Amino acid sequence: MIFESLETYGCEEVAFFYDSVTGLKAIIAIHDTTLGPAWGGTRLWDYKSEQEALTDVLRLANGMTRKASISGIDVGGGKAVIMAKPEQKTEALLRAHGRCVETFKGRFMTGEDVGIGVEDVEIMRKETEHVAGTKGVGDPSPFTAHGVVSGMRACVKDVYGSPSLSGLKVAIQGVGHVGYHLAKELHQQGAQLTVSDIRKALTERASQEFGARVVPPEEIYSVTCDIFAPCALGAISNDDTIPQLTCKIVAGGANNQLEENRHGRLLHDTGIRYAPDYVINAGGLIVIYMESKHRSLEETMKAIEQIEDRIGKIISISKDSHRPTHEIAHQLADERILKKRKEREAGSGGHER
Ligand code: NAD
Repeated sequence: MIFESLETYGCEEVAFFYDSVTGLKAIIAIHDTTLGPAWGGTRLWDYKSEQEALTDVLRLANGMTRKASISGIDVGGGKAVIMAKPEQKTEALLRAHGRCVETFKGRFMTGEDVGIGVEDVEIMRKETEHVAGTKGVGDPSPFTAHGVVSGMRACVKDVYGSPSLSGLKVAIQGVGHVGYHLAKELHQQGAQLTVSDIRKALTERASQEFGARVVPPEEIYSVTCDIFAPCALGAISNDDTIPQLTCKIVAGGANNQLEENRHGRLLHDTGIRYAPDYVINAGGLIVIYMESKHRSLEETMKAIEQIEDRIGKIISISKDSHRPTHEIAHQLADERILKKRKEREAGSGGHER
């Protein structure tokens, strides 16, 4: 069963950790290290089953491999998940997780994700130096949001002929870290916002600061809008939600938005431009990578804004080939890794494991 799952996602290695003192149950997936050591955040979530946690970590790690590859970054993909309720998150549990990360001796580097904030990563740092996103840049989510805006511009240019977001209606699902900063930038650019979140305080903040209209979580899909921006959890493009959409564009920060690959095809056939998630939400990864290379903020912002060209290229190939955008993104991301593997096999370089 486990090897079957690894095979499905083409994952190199999965490690399961249990700590009897804190009750930590964590899974770390090293998806692919062809391009470099595996990078990926740690997600803390109250998973209903071990299988759900395993599937999530494998899908997320696979997405990280492709995200790095398509963004031209020389790192591999990985991910960690902690099976816990938010109230179980203690310093002892986070330190125990830090020790799990340390066992990889740099072959896996982690950072924040849903349920894990910058302050939690700082606690992990007491046990391992292989954590990122906390030293200089702090919270990477404003950079992720900036990349999402860049990607939206490419979609809007394709649909409406101009990349301007002014006057467009955007429905944002989830106004946590990424969703909040996305709302802020879009508001500054003159977009009209509708938001939903399961946390009332966050929708109230978006309403007060950006004049956003608030709708209950289940109504966000059917809101009349130009762009639907998923910024909560994955699998939100599915058989139930896609028929409800009124938008022409789906472009948001959430990982693993397609419940299954066929939902990318369904969006395509419905005439909706879908900005592949790991392409448009790579801003956070790019800023951490650029920081590791001691690049300036200006260079970093330029690198993030290249997401506009990347999404534009994917849309263009998709239109020419009549294939869904997620298929094009997978192809481009996988090609770079295959090329590197071939070079390595031919003995002309590559990352050493
Ligand atoms: P977050 O936890 O800060 O925000 C997610 C928000 O979604 C929360 O406020 C939560 O209450 C809300 N939410 C959960 N279920 C919901 C529902 N059914 N309807 C509406 N809202 C709901 O997390 P984040 O860091 O903003 O990340 C959001 C997504 O973006 C995740 O999928 C994450 O993997 C992805 N992502 C984040 C970054 C980053 O820089 N933080 C980078 C790349 C991808």
